[in-house]
Amino acid sequence: MSVRMRARQVWRLLIGAAALGLFVPVSANAADGYYELVPEQVADDTYVFLGAQENFSFDNHGAISNTGFIVTDNGVVVIDTGPSRLYGEAMRAAIADVTDQPVVQVYITHAHPDHFLGNNAFEDVPIAALAETTSAIREIGPDLASNLYNLVGSAMRGTTAVVPDAAADTENRVTFGDHELELVAARGHTASDLMVFDHSTGVLFAGDIAFHDRAPTTPNADIAAWHETLAATQQRNFKTLVPGHGPVVDGGEALAQTGDYLTWLLQGFEQAAARGASAAEVMFLPLPERWAALAVEPGEYRRSVSHLYPSIERAALERDGTR
Ligand SMILES: [Zn+2]
Repeated sequence: MSVRMRARQVWRLLIGAAALGLFVPVSANAADGYYELVPEQVADDTYVFLGAQENFSFDNHGAISNTGFIVTDNGVVVIDTGPSRLYGEAMRAAIADVTDQPVVQVYITHAHPDHFLGNNAFEDVPIAALAETTSAIREIGPDLASNLYNLVGSAMRGTTAVVPDAAADTENRVTFGDHELELVAARGHTASDLMVFDHSTGVLFAGDIAFHDRAPTTPNADIAAWHETLAATQQRNFKTLVPGHGPVVDGGEALAQTGDYLTWLLQGFEQAAARGASAAEVMFLPLPERWAALAVEPGEYRRSVSHLYPSIERAALERDGTR
């Protein structure tokens, strides 16, 4: 058999497999092949699916952020839906193993693809977000979805950017069964970051305002606003904090760690700009031990150089020019 014929047969097999994938109805079982979601109970009625402390990859299928749910006598409240339709379906299957209560409300913390692209699996439920999050998903959601297809592959099949269809009520506390939730509008990690504070259990779902043992991501960050949010959040009387990435922890440790990292990051950039360092030079500076130990370093640090350093460098050059 010629090499070319063999290649053609392999190709035909591949196409056949893809076609099969297309015609198998998407079910919780199909989702199981990609996502093994085991809910971890963090408080009464409160569960978290912990994401991998990694970058997006074909191996983790994009499941790198934390999602969660609260079981009440008036239905289940879901916080974030993960990176794909299949992830969202796996969430629903895992929730159904915990409770017979139906999912009645979804909250989306912010418009990053690892947090909302599971919305496809919750289209029968109100999906609420802050107004700016909703408009960002409407505008750039399709691009974020196709980008994630490139990064994680077939686990994304059937995933589209479903736009939230409800507004998060940040004026009044909302009640589900005996759980009283405060929806907190914040900003800093992105232009609009929603936190969900359950006053009944003291659990604060902080979204990506808090990263824990994982380097914070900064593509849409306003660092000064982020620090303000972190300081205000430390003042809140929460007991347990669920960060957007990393282990759940009692107290404010994850907030403090995120703030310390951002302070170090910005001070380093400002010092480097003052001595005229190029972005390429800053990118390959060795990280102090404390920060080198975080998950996804030094990659995330280097991404932050590309996000944040150019404007800091420009400002330093302009200051020099006026001397
Ligand atoms: Zn995230």
